[in-house]
Amino acid sequence: MPIKDQPNPPRFRLFNNIFLIIGALFLAANFILPLVTGPQIPGVPYSLFIHQVQEGEVSRVQVGQNQIRFQLKTGDEEAGQVFSTTPIFDLSLPNLLEEKGVEFAAAPPPKNGWIGNVLGWVIPPLIFVGIWQFFARRGGGGAQGMLSIGKSKAKVYVEGEAAKITFADVAGVEEAKAELVEIVDFLKTPGRYTQIGARIPKGVLLVGPPGTGKTLLAKAVAGEAGVPFFSISGSEFVEMFVGVGSSRVRDLFEQAKKQAPCIVFIDELDAIGKSRSSNGFYGGNDEREQTLNQLLSEMDGFSAEAATVIVLAATNRPEILDPALLRPGRFDRQVLVDRPALSGREAILNIHAQKVKLGEDVDLRAIATRTPGFAGADLANLVNEAALLAARNGRQAVAQTDFAEAIERVVAGLEKKSRVLNDKEKKIVAYHEVGHALVGSLMPGSGRVEKISIVSRGMAALGYTLQLPTEDRFLMDEAELRGQIATLLGGRSAEEIVFNSITTGASNDLQRATDLAEQMVTTFGMSKVLGPLAYQQGARPMFLNDGMPNARRSMSEETAQAIDREVKEIVETAHQQALETIRHNRDLLETITMQLLETEAIEGEKLHQLLSQVQASTVVRDIYLKD
Ligand code: ADP
Ligand code: MG
Ligand code: ZN
Repeated sequence: MPIKDQPNPPRFRLFNNIFLIIGALFLAANFILPLVTGPQIPGVPYSLFIHQVQEGEVSRVQVGQNQIRFQLKTGDEEAGQVFSTTPIFDLSLPNLLEEKGVEFAAAPPPKNGWIGNVLGWVIPPLIFVGIWQFFARRGGGGAQGMLSIGKSKAKVYVEGEAAKITFADVAGVEEAKAELVEIVDFLKTPGRYTQIGARIPKGVLLVGPPGTGKTLLAKAVAGEAGVPFFSISGSEFVEMFVGVGSSRVRDLFEQAKKQAPCIVFIDELDAIGKSRSSNGFYGGNDEREQTLNQLLSEMDGFSAEAATVIVLAATNRPEILDPALLRPGRFDRQVLVDRPALSGREAILNIHAQKVKLGEDVDLRAIATRTPGFAGADLANLVNEAALLAARNGRQAVAQTDFAEAIERVVAGLEKKSRVLNDKEKKIVAYHEVGHALVGSLMPGSGRVEKISIVSRGMAALGYTLQLPTEDRFLMDEAELRGQIATLLGGRSAEEIVFNSITTGASNDLQRATDLAEQMVTTFGMSKVLGPLAYQQGARPMFLNDGMPNARRSMSEETAQAIDREVKEIVETAHQQALETIRHNRDLLETITMQLLETEAIEGEKLHQLLSQVQASTVVRDIYLKD
């Protein structure tokens, strides 16, 4: 992976070098100089030296503080052998030498003495500082000051260093790719946009479950545009000391601006971007807030310089992000990176299968069919598991049976994390979602049906039907609310008609339908029987929406019963309408469900075309489509 550590900023490099130079001098003074200044002199015990002096065998003596050197008379004068000995405190030595007629002198002070002295004073503190710095770095803090603090941990990925990642390496997330193509264009030819005064977006937030390829997409954008890629992970900031995180953010942007155009990628944005108000109860986290503030001010700051730095960030928890992050000029674009549907999974398998040797019998389409709910990372893992199994079984290439076994393993691991539906469940969910879509396409009030999917999304929903409002709505009339309730009941109604039984899957729908009906009666005054009275205990502001139902006013037993009856009547009516709509379009229900089971998701034009065939039964038409 072409990722390398960014070099230290200059002042730290200088400091480190001084440290190295002094270290080298120290080594030279203590170990290398003695070797250069002369050959080693053999040492003898002091007693032997005294004995030899007394015997008259010694010709010359040089007395130093730490060493006595002496030359023997034997042999010719010049090459006379020199020995050394370590002196002991012996005041009688000069007398003895004089008595025996030995030439003696004190040794000159060592030439490198002053260096040794200076180093002796300088080195120990430096060693201490070095050790301190070492621990400070490992501990990630603890030492405020000029040493390791502020060193950027940003990884930089420079295009062209190794096989670069492009959009061809990412599959199954076509919509996300289509949106990011535009970002690539901004990075490649910023001039085209700035010339007519357009503001290039600064921040793009990639939102999706883990392992769907958010990091991969960010790298691919850098690869496609051929720009440097700086990356840092939000979780790295979390355990740091106050001030470190924000200085790191500043550093990161400083480097990025120098290399513009480029991409700054912040992974796990939620770790620093948590809503500042959300944990006020516990007193907040100063460091995270400072880091977040620094990030916000950096993002606000770099527009003036017209440097194209685009910040990509990834999160799987967009709902907890601080709203300040999502304001225009910051992460104002959001790109959904969802779990892939059938054809997407096949394409992802194709990419990863190229790295292993495949047997002839391998059918990637069949594998994709068996792996609903798998994200890209799960599929990459699956291919690898299969290859490992093949190798263990002594095969030369990966066979279909290896994949079958690997799926079982990976599914067993995944079942705990997210839901993988079996065939029967898949069928039920498909009918259920198409039921919502059929009713929703006919009823007023809930917008146009844009996507139906049976790819499980998180823990809450097994499948989902996505309706987008066609316009901003502030007021709803009674017919629209009734329409919404019918749409909510469409899923369960389809299950009733097709399977003649009811599953637990619709509980959330029923909850929402009943809540709406109750609000109609008790808050909006839409019941003829009960009249325009508000039966809810008043004015709790909407933003305090903590999921608790508002308390009811005190009321008579009769009124309470009347409310219950009215709520039941609204829900029952809507249920009948949903049932009727689905019965009336039974063939279409089958057609769309079969298609959905095959492709796992239907959206856009294709879906609109299918749903335009929905016909209203006479009763439903009389109520809703009067015009
Ligand atoms: P995320 O950042 O969304 O958690 P990653 O980008 O880190 O996921 O994905 C991890 C790995 O899984 C990637 O390196 C790649 O090998 C594989 N992968 C994930 N999604 C895809 C995809 N859509 N296409 C191809 N490979 C994918
Ligand atoms: Mg990631
Ligand atoms: Zn439903």
